[in-house]
Amino acid sequence: MTIGGGAPVAVQSMTNTRTDDWRATLRQIRRLERAGCEIVRVAVPDENAAAALSQIRRRTAVPLVADIHFDYRLALAALAAGFDKVRINPGNIGADWKVKEIIRAAADTGKAIRVGVNSGSVEKSVLRKHGRATPEALVESLERCLEPFEQLRFKAIVLSAKTTNGPDAIATSRLIARRFRYPQHLGLTEAGLELDGAVRSAAVLGTLLAEGIGDTIRVSLAADPVREVAVAYELLAALGLRQRGPLVIACPTCGRTQVDVVGLAKKVKASMSSMGPIGPIRVAVMGCVVNGPGEAREADFAICGGKGRGAIYVKGRHVRTVPEDRLVDELAREIASSQKARAKVHKTK
Ligand code: SF4
Repeated sequence: MTIGGGAPVAVQSMTNTRTDDWRATLRQIRRLERAGCEIVRVAVPDENAAAALSQIRRRTAVPLVADIHFDYRLALAALAAGFDKVRINPGNIGADWKVKEIIRAAADTGKAIRVGVNSGSVEKSVLRKHGRATPEALVESLERCLEPFEQLRFKAIVLSAKTTNGPDAIATSRLIARRFRYPQHLGLTEAGLELDGAVRSAAVLGTLLAEGIGDTIRVSLAADPVREVAVAYELLAALGLRQRGPLVIACPTCGRTQVDVVGLAKKVKASMSSMGPIGPIRVAVMGCVVNGPGEAREADFAICGGKGRGAIYVKGRHVRTVPEDRLVDELAREIASSQKARAKVHKTK
């Protein structure tokens, strides 16, 4: 897994099981992996959690990050357990020598460190200078945190800064991107419940990603972490940065709609998820001929609804019109046969 240097934006999430219950944590990690999560972060609040890390590490190949606060020994334990990265906030680890212990251990084992600062842990002198935890104050705080890393010439670093509101988060990440050459992790801490969090993350992370800022993202949601991964890919797909599996678009429906667009779109999504891995195709479910044929031309597959029936399009070409209750099955048949044809071409090559 490469972060930064032009690599695709990596999607990460964080487990919310008790880490000392390594079986439950591992189960969640596997669900995350199946959803396409590329980096999984695990909280390590105490020694019991640290003791479970090697059990987890042994049983999964996904890149793992240990989230550490306050106690540098927990970071050392995570690195010794084979975790790929530790996430620390040097501001709460304490003395310089403790941070340096972590850096040396990471250097010795070839691991990475995420240096994360947040608005609650900016040094008092920096706060006095800026009046509050402004984006400039956070970046100055980050600069100070990086001193021991630079003294030890340790470069396997990812940077992050957390603030309490969206505009500050955007301004801070822009400053970081301008000031440092290290890759940057993007995420909003106070994201919220699923819909609220998805919208807030889309606004803040989307703004930055559209400017080319951000090398790895986490969409924080107060929800099942698997949903974080789904939202992250939707966000990246919306910006044309990455797409995992099919992208389903549906018209918002209106007074002209004469088929159950929402029901059809949900069924199309469900039928594709039961087909196994599908490439990054675009599937449109449209309610009528106003926007349907236009959207169908842009999509790989499309349904364009009419009164109790709908037209099926493949690569913009109208292939047939069928009653509403057969639309999903017919579309699924077209998708499955194109996937088979694609697999055959790959095999022949
Ligand atoms: Fe309405 Fe047709 Fe547009 Fe759907 S595609 S929102 S039904 S006009």
